[in-house]
Amino acid sequence: MAVTKVWLDESENECTMCGACEATCPEVFEVPEKMVVKNSPKLELTDEIVEAAEGCPVGTIAIEYDGSGKRDNPM
Ligand code: SF4
Repeated sequence: MAVTKVWLDESENECTMCGACEATCPEVFEVPEKMVVKNSPKLELTDEIVEAAEGCPVGTIAIEYDGSGKRDNPM
């Protein structure tokens, strides 16, 4: 599966600005305050993006696969 979009999803929790996602995958995430996805993120870094999402303590990193049009990873 290919990652086609990644974004901050605060529908259940708020980003705590911990910086873990940027530490795991700085090519995609930065945390100037709350997390933002960089311009032209390297979505081909699937393993790092998934690792960052799984390591987010509040589950606010959403991933869409294959243009599904929805969040595909668990909260
Ligand atoms: S790991 Fe999650 S809570 Fe921490 S800065 Fe990234 S998005 Fe925010």
